[in-house]
Amino acid sequence: MERFAEGHFATDLFGRPLRNLRLSVTDRCNLRCQYCMPEEEYVWLPREDLLTFDELGRLVGIFAELGIDKVRLTGGEPLMRRDLPALVRRLAQISRIKDLALTTNGVLLAEQAQALYDAGLHRVTVSLDTLRPERFKALTRRDSHDRVLSGITAAIQAGFKGVKIDSVITRGVNEDELVDLLEYGKQVGAEVRFIEYMDVGGATRWSMDKVVSRAEMLDVLGRRYGRIEPVVEVTTAPAERFALPDGTVFGIIASTTAPFCQNCDRSRLTADGMWYLCLYALNGVDLRKPLRGGESKEEIKSLIVSGWTRRRDRGAEERKELRVRAVFVEKERLRKDPHLEMHTRGG
Ligand code: SAM
Ligand code: SF4
Ligand code: SF4
Repeated sequence: MERFAEGHFATDLFGRPLRNLRLSVTDRCNLRCQYCMPEEEYVWLPREDLLTFDELGRLVGIFAELGIDKVRLTGGEPLMRRDLPALVRRLAQISRIKDLALTTNGVLLAEQAQALYDAGLHRVTVSLDTLRPERFKALTRRDSHDRVLSGITAAIQAGFKGVKIDSVITRGVNEDELVDLLEYGKQVGAEVRFIEYMDVGGATRWSMDKVVSRAEMLDVLGRRYGRIEPVVEVTTAPAERFALPDGTVFGIIASTTAPFCQNCDRSRLTADGMWYLCLYALNGVDLRKPLRGGESKEEIKSLIVSGWTRRRDRGAEERKELRVRAVFVEKERLRKDPHLEMHTRGG
């Protein structure tokens, strides 16, 4: 363990450090996005398995001692977890965490933005794929478009800087809204990031012909705005950033056509304490059992370190190498193991 004292990171078999933790605080969601939760029914994690805030705080503290300095709260819909600001307050006290962020669908954000800001949350990303209420309803099977827009405004008013808007672009759904979404981002002062449709668990209707590639997005935007320049920066963030001629910056997350596994320092903890080292990993490490079984902090640390130092995951790159690329996990298998769902492990 000495090697992983303060300032030193555990690295995996490709030399990638353990720095970034995505914490799914619930598998429940108040939307049913067709690229994530298209089914009529779901198998939920048993409530008694969900880690308490105290357990989450302890685990994040252990991860932080091993080098994690970025934590993103996600889900399911994280704002459905009761009293989320209390968890934020607890995590914000872990001094090694330099970046504490939230990804939300925004439906409950207007009512919680100020409390989250006051609790010490640093950054907010809101997922929004369309500016058209009817389309939103078709895409999410819920009628809450106006609440998402109010959520974005409320976050900015609460004091959050650098609010981001993430938009999954799908052919036949919203590929005609690239310009409108960028203009909306400019208007409210939020950076927009376009995400390629991914064949992750849960995306049971995925097919390659529905993916709008980064190249295609840049082409459409270039024709509308003129020359688009890449923003030159050193980062392990998944989004590549670009600037329009007027200086507006936007991002593209090209996980499907140009994966970035080489620099991936992210892992994911589900609400019931399963730790996954890749979005596409079929198996995870159970951290709830040792935590509840009274194992010492050092024992849990060595479990994490031995998992990470053996990591060789490069899921999105492997998917890209396939000659025939179909749905990643079939419905029947998802029902048997809900941990494979995107809404369980957090996007
Ligand atoms: N419910 C919250 C939200 O939607 O922001 C947080 C969890 S959601 C799983 C996190 C992100 O994953 C969202 O931005 C969502 O659009 C994205 N996502 C889900 N399924 C996806 C897919 N098949 N391809 C690309 N992105 C996806
Ligand atoms: Fe949509 Fe996020 Fe809910 Fe998935 S978890 S259905 S992406 S809002
Ligand atoms: Fe990281 Fe896995 Fe995503 Fe590649 S596919 S970027 S290794 S989480």
